[in-house]
Order: sequence, then C-alpha cells, then structure tokens
Amino acid sequence: MTGMAAKPLAAAAIAQLESDGVATLIGTVINPAGLIHAKTVPLRRMGAFAEPGLGASPVWHVFAIDQAGIVFGDATGVVGDQRIRIDLGALRILGDGLAWAPGSFFNQDGSPDPYCARGALSRLEARLADAGIQALVGHEMEFVLVDPGGERLPSHLWAQYGLAGVLEHEGFVRDVTNAATASGVAIEQFHPEYGANQFEISLPPQSPVAAADQLTFLRIIVSRVARRYGMRASLSPVPFAGSVGSGAHQHFSLVRDGSPLFSGGDGPAGITVAGGSAVAGVVAGLAPAQGVLCGSILSGLRMQPGSWSGAYGCWGTENREAAVRFLPAGQHNPHGGNVEVKVIDPSANPYLASAAILGLALDGIDRELVAPGQVNVDPATLTQAQRDEAGITVLTSNHLQTINTLDESSLLRSILGNEVVDTVVAVRRYEHDHYGDLEPEQLTERFRLAWSV
Ligand code: GLU
Ligand code: MG
Repeated sequence: MTGMAAKPLAAAAIAQLESDGVATLIGTVINPAGLIHAKTVPLRRMGAFAEPGLGASPVWHVFAIDQAGIVFGDATGVVGDQRIRIDLGALRILGDGLAWAPGSFFNQDGSPDPYCARGALSRLEARLADAGIQALVGHEMEFVLVDPGGERLPSHLWAQYGLAGVLEHEGFVRDVTNAATASGVAIEQFHPEYGANQFEISLPPQSPVAAADQLTFLRIIVSRVARRYGMRASLSPVPFAGSVGSGAHQHFSLVRDGSPLFSGGDGPAGITVAGGSAVAGVVAGLAPAQGVLCGSILSGLRMQPGSWSGAYGCWGTENREAAVRFLPAGQHNPHGGNVEVKVIDPSANPYLASAAILGLALDGIDRELVAPGQVNVDPATLTQAQRDEAGITVLTSNHLQTINTLDESSLLRSILGNEVVDTVVAVRRYEHDHYGDLEPEQLTERFRLAWSV
C-alpha cells in the first residue's frame, strides 16, 4: 500500500471503527518458532501502524519457545530495526473495544523483509499467479482445553467426538461461534475431537495469506473465550505425553487457467496430470518440509503411525494415515477436489507451512513429476517389504534429523529463502540443544502452553 493511499483510507477507517466502538488495535506477526507476537496502538495510531509501521528488533524472528531464549545470528542480533506494518485490508473487529490486523515485516527503507513469514507466503502466491495458478487453503485448528496453569481439566463426561463435550463446554462453544460470526469468520464446523477436552474448528478455503490470517484471528477468538471460562487453549502438538496429539491440517486446491487441478481429470479419483504432479511434489518433499510443518521439539511425539497424524510418507484417497490425504470432488464435497496435508501441527508457523506446501506443489508441476501410486489401505497393515515396494516411508520422529534435513534442502531454501530456513533451523536447533534430554512427560509439561495466547 502506498503512503498516498494509506492516509485517507486510514482516516475514513478510523472514523468507521470509532463508531463501531473500537479503541485499541492489536497487530500480530508469527515467528519461525510459531509464536504469535503483538503490538497494540490506540485507534488514532492505526495509520502509523500501517505505514511506516512500528519498530521491532530483528530478534523477534529468533525468539524461542521457552519464554526467554533468543537465538542471536548475524542479521538477527542487537543491532538493526525493522518495521511491522499491519494490513488494513485484513482488519477485523474483535469486540470489547478491540480490533485486530495481521502484520508483515519490512525493512526501514520499505523493502520487504526476507525473514517475514507472511511475506514469504505472499511471494509464493505471486509465483503461483505467474504460473497462472490460483490456490485456496483451508485450515483446521485442533486444541485441548486446560486450566490456566496448564493442568488437565476434568473429563468425566467425555466420549470421542461426543455430545458430552459440547454440553460440558456449551458456553465456550456458543461464545466462540458467536464471536467468530460477529467478526465475519465463517466457521465450517466445530466439534469435540478424540482426546479428552480436545476440540477442532475447520475454516473455509481462502487465498493462502488470507487463510493464515484468519487462522491467527481464530486462535485469538478461541483463547479469549477460553479465558472467560477460566480455561486456556493448549496449541501444543502433544499436550500430554501418551495422549492424542493436536494437528493443524491444511487443505489446498489449485486452479490453473480457470480449471481445477484436483478434479475432472483422467487420473485416480479424477485428479488431472498436473494435479498428480502437485501431489507428487508434496509427497517427495515431505522429509525436508517436516522441519517447517512439524519441526518443534514436541512434534516427533505426535509423528507416530496410528495417531492419524499422517506419519506415513504417501498419499491416498480419504486415507487418514497418509501424510497427504486426497479428497475427491463430488456432490458430497462442496469445496471440490482438494488435498489435505496432515503432518502439520500447531507449533508450525502457518504462513510458512502453506508456503512450503504450495512451493512443493509448484515444484512438482514445474518438473512434471508423476504421482506415485496412491495408498488406499492403512500402511500399518502392510509388511515392511510391501511398504518398501510401494515406496511408503515412515516419516522421522527424530528432531535432529528433521532439523538437519531441512537445513540441507536446497529445494526448501529456494521456496522459502535462506533467511527463513536459517531462522527456522536456528530456533528448532535451540530447542534440541536446550531440551533434547528431557523425557516426554517433562517436555510436554514444559511446553504445554508455549504456543497459547
Ligand atoms: N489429532 C490428529 C492429529 O494429531 C488428527 C485427527 C483427525 O484426523 O482429525 O493430527
Ligand atoms: Mg481432527
């Protein structure tokens, strides 16, 4: 947005927001460790927050998940300053005098900051557009309700996906739904999940940056309402050792020159040749992308066969054990053919996760990869020899291997940029170096609220 346009727009917008009762504006950014950072301004400062933006140290990119750690680097140290600019086009009213807008990082000269996650996804959207491709992304949010100290809440009345969960937390469910609706967030569905006090909310498909913005906003809504009921929402990939994990699955679909790539084709389940190439690109890139999609010190605890987290490196139609689940088009599926990437968890930066996935899909299309055979059984029921023959891998749950594979990937570096990969690697390596010796019980307890807001 140019300065010429920003100021009159801001003035008009401020008047409108004032009449809507807004007094305080929250701007957020998400860092490579998946932490949501924020600055707030009184409404009259909204224009300045949009342009030139508010100052922030480059170390924001390397804050670690332990509330104190900073992983200093050459360009992410004590010297330098950046600007966070909120995107007024994405502003939403939260209620109670608050509004929110997502921010992006810029250098002081106004150029985009190569460390910015939202910027990386914007660049990917532009690359897709250059290839004549439009992407839509739909996020799922799984979370576990805990007490303010992170301890388990009672779950005497709970069944997997049970009505009991809805009634036990009726006020919470109703208030989240109402707040989302009032703020223009169109929840698709909201239901108790498998784990005790675990819920899931699905969001409708949107263009990639807008979709990640909306997920950020939903986290704020859920967390505010949870507080109102004396609870917190844990966004840990594994809140309790030995219990079910929480995913942050992303669905995506692609349209090229007006035609969907995941339906109307001659391939399996109606996939087109290019759609198959996109799937092939994602499957081929899972190992290096894990560091971005599920790279925290807790993520390996979730990345286990049998936990519906997609721990098998393969794809299959409606296969919930495959890292890449294909949902074919049809009357049953109003959103059309799409691909769900299941390995992503809530410790990931959602902007970077989308950029990695879409970049891999584009790489598959560019290189005209051929989709491997789809897997339509639970890979656990196959012998090792059968899995080898079908090319099905088990994705690693080893943290250091996850980090190193990302670090060494020229493909992920070309998709996200060296700055982004280096900072993701830095914050995840810090987690390994400082906490790699902890047992699962200690780890899950230590970081149960690390991503909560
Ligand atoms: N909670 C599972 C995960 O960690 C996902 C369950 C589902 O398929 O919705 O990914
Ligand atoms: Mg789920």
